[in-house]
Amino acid sequence: MNDTTTAATFFGHPRGLSTLFFTEFFERFSYYGMRALLVLFLTATVANGGLGVDDATAGSIYGIYAGAVYLFALPGGWVADRLLGTRRSIWIGGALIAIGNLLLALPASMFVFMVGLLIIALGTGLLKPNISALVGELYEGKPGAFRDAAFSIFYMGINLGGLLAPLVSGTVGEMFNFRYGFLTAGLAMLLGLVQFKVTGHYLGSAGLTPKSTTDAERTAGFRWVWAGIVLIIAVVASAGLGLFAISAPVVADVFRHLMYAIAALYFSYILLFGGLDSAEKRRVWVMIALFMGSAVFWAGFEQAGTTFNLFARDLTDRSFLGSFFASGEHPATWYQSFNSVCIIALSPFFAWLWLALGRRNLDPSAPVKFGLGLIMLGAGFVVLLLAAQLILASGGKVGPQWLLLTYLLHTTGELCLSPVGLSNFTKLAPNRYVSQLMGMWFLATAIGNLAAGQIGGHIGSDVHTMPTEFLHMTMYGVGCGTLMLLFGPMLRRWMGAVR
Ligand code: GLN
Repeated sequence: MNDTTTAATFFGHPRGLSTLFFTEFFERFSYYGMRALLVLFLTATVANGGLGVDDATAGSIYGIYAGAVYLFALPGGWVADRLLGTRRSIWIGGALIAIGNLLLALPASMFVFMVGLLIIALGTGLLKPNISALVGELYEGKPGAFRDAAFSIFYMGINLGGLLAPLVSGTVGEMFNFRYGFLTAGLAMLLGLVQFKVTGHYLGSAGLTPKSTTDAERTAGFRWVWAGIVLIIAVVASAGLGLFAISAPVVADVFRHLMYAIAALYFSYILLFGGLDSAEKRRVWVMIALFMGSAVFWAGFEQAGTTFNLFARDLTDRSFLGSFFASGEHPATWYQSFNSVCIIALSPFFAWLWLALGRRNLDPSAPVKFGLGLIMLGAGFVVLLLAAQLILASGGKVGPQWLLLTYLLHTTGELCLSPVGLSNFTKLAPNRYVSQLMGMWFLATAIGNLAAGQIGGHIGSDVHTMPTEFLHMTMYGVGCGTLMLLFGPMLRRWMGAVR
């Protein structure tokens, strides 16, 4: 690594961290800005500038898109490792995201819109896992605590993007024209790319080359990539020519079962034929438990983009600051920012809490933290359950405090589960399987996101179905969380020396 990478000038960290911080800031800005508008745009009537699809279809499209984003992280990581290196993967991924968003911004057909979503999902799969990996690469050989601090700063970049995007893209999209909102998401990614190019030299040589592969392996790898691209183009072209009709809810269902099958096959394979000793096998069982907990958690949490977005639009009294807007209401998408606000506000507290508990030897194990996270998820749905009943009783809308409280509870759950899961997957995985098992962590997120779209599409903004559905979500969260707590001591033993 050359000197430019080690000159500490960004919060006491290498300048390269600022390059990655801002690239991820713009990428997440683009992701959450577009996502805030997606379901609102799909369900808005054509007269109101939307596509006029029903809730179930909109939820399924959202689920397929968000599921694909995380699923494509698997090939995305592989392409960087074997073929392109992280730097070029981030660059190409970012370019695809920008192109995809610009396609969404065109006043074109539903088909063009779907192609745009596909391109964004492919680009995010290429960018998102690799930018985190590049943060890691930048800190190779540096002390663990320094690296942890770098990831905390990086996570702030993610949430700064998540905070500002709905306020900018959401407001523009809702108040003026959805297409302009998508345009701002595309422009944000373009700014991120320019920034990445201009300040790229701060990264020194980090991420320039793929991990050691032979020329023959690379040639074979590129063949697979080209085969994948041809397959995707063939499927898209046949759909465009109307050779087969696609029903989003059916595709979503097939896609979800396919992901269950991948998970079941992979875990069976590694347990039966992975050549693991009994301690390693027990740790894989812990990962299976965390995998299931994570999928359930995101299935509830990621309804932020579906159920909660529609709840904000149709059932929340948005008259506060309403006089500034022609509609008399502030934009529904503003609520999408609140998760990031809570993350930024609560992260220091959680960091302190785990350290303080650790000092007294009371630091909860990962399964116990997952249990707590799932229970907080359930608690968030109790709040909405009560709000829905209030709406049914009064016939009106409820104040913003209900949705805000749900987001707050869900964010505490996220802080118990998301960073914990990520670091424990790296620690629990047998060395030779780390990247594959990291892929499984992304797969759990993908399953959760897809399910969140399907559930959100089923609930829609129909307040009559809400009490029952929110009760189910509460039962899933609290039930799975309690199971995690009950099995916690056993899972902790199975973790062995991993803490
Ligand atoms: N909010 C985080 C991000 O955007 C984590 C999202 C997730 O894992 N579902 O990176």
